[in-house]
Amino acid sequence: RSQYPEQRERDGDFDMRGLLHRDGSVLLHVTRDELRSPAALYTALGCKTAVGFPFKDIATVDSIVLDAPPTADDADARLTLRRLQTAGVGVLAPAAALGAAPIDGAVAIYDLAAIGAAGGALPALPAGALRAAVRVDGSEDDELLLSLARLDAAMIILDVATPLSRVHASRRVFEMLARSKCAAPVILAGTFETPSAEELTIAVGMQLGSLLVDGLGDGVLVSAPRAARTAELRPLSFALLQGSRMRNTKTEFVSCPSCGRTLFDLQTVTAEIAARTGHLPGVAIAVMGCIVNGPGEMADADFGYVGGAPGKIDLYVGKDVVKRAIPMEQACEELVQLIKDNGRWVEKEPAEAEAVAVAA
Ligand code: SF4
Repeated sequence: RSQYPEQRERDGDFDMRGLLHRDGSVLLHVTRDELRSPAALYTALGCKTAVGFPFKDIATVDSIVLDAPPTADDADARLTLRRLQTAGVGVLAPAAALGAAPIDGAVAIYDLAAIGAAGGALPALPAGALRAAVRVDGSEDDELLLSLARLDAAMIILDVATPLSRVHASRRVFEMLARSKCAAPVILAGTFETPSAEELTIAVGMQLGSLLVDGLGDGVLVSAPRAARTAELRPLSFALLQGSRMRNTKTEFVSCPSCGRTLFDLQTVTAEIAARTGHLPGVAIAVMGCIVNGPGEMADADFGYVGGAPGKIDLYVGKDVVKRAIPMEQACEELVQLIKDNGRWVEKEPAEAEAVAVAA
């Protein structure tokens, strides 16, 4: 089991336990330009806000990675950064970049190859930095990978270099980590050059999800310069963790593949139900096309929406049918009522009313 960062005395006000989430972490790259537009950035990172200040929510990015940290004279970007840190969002940046633009409370990223070339020990942290992270690209030899266990790293960032196969190279790295009993959490990182969001979803699922479902990896750091911005990468990353049975941040939906027996338009109805009930983390809803096989295929869903007859829906709580032959046009609201009756409903939060920002 991974050893997550713990708080140390010299950490002061910086909460280093928030760098990662035990159920699975989401990290995202953030640019200096994004830091200069704080309201948009807080929303993109999934923060709640009040009077201009960000707060962590259930699906807020755990840590951000700055390839180019703002310099000391970039006051606006620095203020945004400080507010994110106060909210508990971790900040990582390459050690060399932090040397030029120090950030208090940051995590300095070192390349394993450079550590190996310099004798195998972590260098002294840059001014202000509190932890080290080590980037591994899968091309390192076994001996170097085995040395990771001796380094005091808050996390390992596994970013497989092309043209290596991400899945195969990653499995080799995990094998070495297991052999050396290295307990540092591993973040699966990748830059995907897919041209569309759909292709990105497939690529990320195949290349990162296939590792996560096997218990390999503690989080993700995805970038996709051609297909998605920060605001789109965050839900994709959380969906990846949820689909890998790691971290639930929204309702879980199970639906049958549909067949000749399907009694309604499965895609349309599932989308309608998802729009109404998609904000209930920890709740699983099955949408099944017929009662012939539907109830038996609902897995362990908490609630079931099952085609009972043409134009009629049966609703289930667990494996028990509790409402029969509801007209389709009422069935979604009846399902909502059923969720409420069983104490599993919470109201959607209204969009945060953003008050006037208070100067720091
Ligand atoms: S649940 Fe019914 S409609 Fe859905 S795939 Fe199975 S048999 Fe077909």
